[in-house]
Amino acid sequence: MTESTPARPEGMSAVRTTTPKQVRPTTEGWTQAKDAEGRPLLQFASPKRGKPPVHLADLTHDQRVEKLKELGMPGFRAGQLEKHYFQHYTSDPAHMTDLPAGNRDELVTGLMPNLMTEVRRLETDGGDTIKFLWRLHDGALVESVLMRYTGRITLCVSSQAGCGMNCPFCATGQAGLTRNMSAAEIVDQVVRANRLIADGGLGDPRKVGHKDERVTNIVFMGMGEPLANYARVMTAVRTMVDKKHGLGMSARGITISTVGLVPAIRKLSNEEIPVTFALSLHAPDDLLRDELIPVNSRWKVDEALDAAREYFEKTGRRVSIEYALIKDMNDHAWRADLLADKLNARGRGWVHVNPIPLNPTPGSIWTSSDVDVQNEFVRRLNEAGIPTTLRDTRGKEIDGACGQLVATEEDQVAAASV
Ligand code: SF4
Repeated sequence: MTESTPARPEGMSAVRTTTPKQVRPTTEGWTQAKDAEGRPLLQFASPKRGKPPVHLADLTHDQRVEKLKELGMPGFRAGQLEKHYFQHYTSDPAHMTDLPAGNRDELVTGLMPNLMTEVRRLETDGGDTIKFLWRLHDGALVESVLMRYTGRITLCVSSQAGCGMNCPFCATGQAGLTRNMSAAEIVDQVVRANRLIADGGLGDPRKVGHKDERVTNIVFMGMGEPLANYARVMTAVRTMVDKKHGLGMSARGITISTVGLVPAIRKLSNEEIPVTFALSLHAPDDLLRDELIPVNSRWKVDEALDAAREYFEKTGRRVSIEYALIKDMNDHAWRADLLADKLNARGRGWVHVNPIPLNPTPGSIWTSSDVDVQNEFVRRLNEAGIPTTLRDTRGKEIDGACGQLVATEEDQVAAASV
């Protein structure tokens, strides 16, 4: 472990205290992969692979009607199929007794092809947290994590198989981008989770006490950078919030999280779907963030914060700043002060900070901050008038916390045998 005085970016005279240690992503020998121009390697475009089959969740209602007509079926069947899939969470023709027995299978094959095969399911927190490993049609592996809390059920979904953003602390990022997921592959994670809940498979439903439970909150914090797969993610979100022909969820319960793809944040501000927006910042200074979040080489801290502020102005929705607290890397008190200064410089009441302690990994530089350091970080932000709460780190035991979703060799072996 290298010890040195933290380097301060220029113009930081407001810094009040320092800590003696500063580890960096390179401390344990990690090196940033570079592109041909010597810039940090980032994959924005999805590698070309066979497309997943088209599913009704990729289409608008009108497109579903058209597709049925192409298949020689009456358009009104679209409404029946929507009801089975979005309300009863089934793609099994045997359950669709309102459809003519003669072409039921054909209808389902045409509009509801199987998109994902469950490879593995891991449970923890007494069954209140479940991680699913899914195999997609081309063998790509993705994961989702379902979590029951008091009064809400949250699903952490993947939006890409792998990720091209190359963050050094993230297992998914280190494995690179396999491909973008389709809108239906994103939505199907929710429908499959709802099926499991309806079957009583998530913890103890009596805790909440009613039988019509389903996923109430979605966080795009699984595999992938959602704004790098913008169009498909937005199609999926529209289907999630569509009350008539989709899942009918509340947009406020959906959180889209990004490492800071500024043009896409601006686009999102103009969508007129009031989702919750989260910026994974992890460092308030470019010197560290350039290493910690390689996309910072394209859009700097101030640009990302300006775009986040614009999101608040356009939507009226308070923005979340995600901040993984990593021991001696980004958890210094002066960084809490700098973050508070930068947020306050952009106004009051527009932002909330969620520090999340990393998993404790003794012996690694990628480990959680000491509890007193975490508390001091939170205290300073709150004292500066920035609402700040340490976030729950549910799912740690099954590697389901953010930045940990990656298919292991063991997963690949399991997938091959399903
Ligand atoms: S932290 Fe997020 S954006 Fe960064 S590599 Fe991992 S999945 Fe991608």
